[in-house]
Amino acid sequence: MKNGKGNYLIANLVIMTPKCYLNNKLISLDDAKISVFDHGFLYGNGLFETMRAYRNYHVFRMRQHLDRLFHSAEIIGLQIKHSTEMIEDAIVETLAANNLAEAGYVRLTISQGVGLAGPDPSTCEEPTLLIVVKPFVPYPENLYHTGAHVIVSRMRRNAQSPVPRLKSLNFLENILARAEARDVGAQESIFLDTNGYVAEGSMSNLFFVRSGVLHTPSLECPILPGITRAVVLEIAAENGIPTREGQWILEQLSAADEAFLTNSLMEVMPLTQIDTVQIGKGAPGPITLKLMSLYARQMEMEVGD
Ligand code: PLP
Repeated sequence: MKNGKGNYLIANLVIMTPKCYLNNKLISLDDAKISVFDHGFLYGNGLFETMRAYRNYHVFRMRQHLDRLFHSAEIIGLQIKHSTEMIEDAIVETLAANNLAEAGYVRLTISQGVGLAGPDPSTCEEPTLLIVVKPFVPYPENLYHTGAHVIVSRMRRNAQSPVPRLKSLNFLENILARAEARDVGAQESIFLDTNGYVAEGSMSNLFFVRSGVLHTPSLECPILPGITRAVVLEIAAENGIPTREGQWILEQLSAADEAFLTNSLMEVMPLTQIDTVQIGKGAPGPITLKLMSLYARQMEMEVGD
């Protein structure tokens, strides 16, 4: 409930007004306004990053997320005015302004900004940068014990397109694929690509284990180069788990001993059913469980006390 000044009231306690960072400053979320001529709104011309803050305003792998953002911006011809350091400071400032020292969800959105009607970004003045944070809401705990159920989407990732490789504001395909999963009570949809190879989930990267070897679609495939994917490959290599990146067909994935999904919010989520096919023993396998705990350990190490 809100009081007359727009502040949130909980049992007569006035909590600070939620704030966001828009362009160059922190402002009240209620006052945040974006132009109706913003090309992010009109044409989906922009990018975003979703990050997870743990303790002490520590955003896990924030630098890697921002490196991906700057790299993607170059690909779509979006000139970010802020430096990486300015954005890092702005993210932490936004978390602090919302009292989110613990467990925050961070969403950074950048668009081409205000331009003329017509999908020509050269008419855009300067990018719009928005950072919104809120308390982190974990995925249901039981999914980490039972494993997720996924379906194979009817849509295909276009192997010729740069779009799947970017975390862009063109998110409709992912939304529609997720709806396909929800319609049948599954947690996620996975895409094959236009060449028939396994690509990724609508909001996650995909791994499977076969004979003790960790497999994942390579970055040649039309997938987002996930930050969590990179962390998993890194910790697998450090802990002697053999890995193979390549092009895999659905039959190889379905015949796997274990499988899991990754993203920055869910971390490592076991995957135990694809359509009607059970993966391995239908429960999280030993390598998945090991990587879940190694990931948690890595996070603890980086976040510190
Ligand atoms: N693939 C897609 C399509 C995604 O939307 C996401 C994240 O939301 C991922 C993969 C995982 O990326 P990250 O590990 O960087 O969160």
